Amino acid sequence: MLKKRLQIKDSQVRKNLKWHILRLLRLNSRTRQELLDKIKEMYVGYWMSNNELIDINLNTLMHEDSIEYSDKYAITEKGLHELDKREKSIEQHHMSYLSKEACAKYSLWGNVGLSALEFFIGFLSGSIGLIADAVHTGIDIVASAITWIGIKIDREAQSALIGGIILCCIGAFIAFESITKIFTPVEIHFQIVALVTIVINIAVNGYFSYYKFYVGGQTRSISLVADAYHTKTDIWSSVAVLIGLLGATLGFFALDAIAGVVVSFFIILGGYELIKESHGIMQGKDPKIEKFSRFLDSHLNVLQERGVFIFLWFLNLRETTKEENFKCVKKGFGKHFPVKLEDKDYESIYAGLVIDHLLESVNGKLRLTEKGKKELNRLAKKQVAYVAWSKSKFVNARKINWFSEGL
Ligand SMILES: [Zn+2]
Repeated sequence: MLKKRLQIKDSQVRKNLKWHILRLLRLNSRTRQELLDKIKEMYVGYWMSNNELIDINLNTLMHEDSIEYSDKYAITEKGLHELDKREKSIEQHHMSYLSKEACAKYSLWGNVGLSALEFFIGFLSGSIGLIADAVHTGIDIVASAITWIGIKIDREAQSALIGGIILCCIGAFIAFESITKIFTPVEIHFQIVALVTIVINIAVNGYFSYYKFYVGGQTRSISLVADAYHTKTDIWSSVAVLIGLLGATLGFFALDAIAGVVVSFFIILGGYELIKESHGIMQGKDPKIEKFSRFLDSHLNVLQERGVFIFLWFLNLRETTKEENFKCVKKGFGKHFPVKLEDKDYESIYAGLVIDHLLESVNGKLRLTEKGKKELNRLAKKQVAYVAWSKSKFVNARKINWFSEGL
């Protein structure tokens, strides 16, 4: 029974335990007991080190010639090579999905696909809500193309103004069409297919909004973050269509037409924002910057506490010079924090540690003070308390998994 409770719950950690062992052995050769202690420290109570599972991994690694044993476990040339290959592939993965260009490309094609699907199902079923949403997605594509062209030809303000006026006209047209349909509702066919379509739309847009926020923060791209906010608002317009279609399945076909009115409101709102934006640009300020700094602030607020935890976590695992510690923290933490941090952010976290006497410098190397160790445990427990026990085992173990990339 006890054994079962000590099992590692998170499959992600289970999968990566092998790499954790290799990373720890890259730093030092260790006896079995030293290794067990280190892994336990690494997980600061998120899960108990499960000796059996670690032994299985050690055996596999021995079998693969990635580690060797005389009086201690040590990493071999082959192990180093494997680890290097793995780190490069992680890096590659991040490069190919987390660049501004990749994100813009994927979200453009995603929108094209969604819009086509909605048009098709919209005409098939006769849902004005779906058609309106398809038009909305379609003009969002055109609007971002116009902005992009505007930036290229250096006529951003004019192109935003033209785009805004077009959006308002189309919005007004759809509003008119929808209002007529409220009074003479038409039956909607293939209701389940239509419902599935809009649910797919909401899910994909939710994902893209998250993706754009993330890449926008990581690359500190003002336009991507602004776009992410836009996509987030678009979800509400799609939710209106969902409600309309749910109404239609119950026989209230007018609800679909009302959803059409709501969508056209969102289109006009988008047009209005573009016109406002062009006005702002003409006056020499960019309204997108305001949105961007709101986003940045919301993340940097939590930085101090999360940052302290991660700095202490790394120092608990190894004593290093300040430069080495910064490198570890940046590698493990930077990639997974939704905003790319600047050197001054790292410096400010570090300064806080010094002021609070959480670390001390001995022979040029940093190490945790007793107070620092206590603080690490307090923060670890606190993070666990944020979420339910079952979830905390899952989420936090994964978080630790990310940090360890810096080891
Ligand atoms: Zn939109």
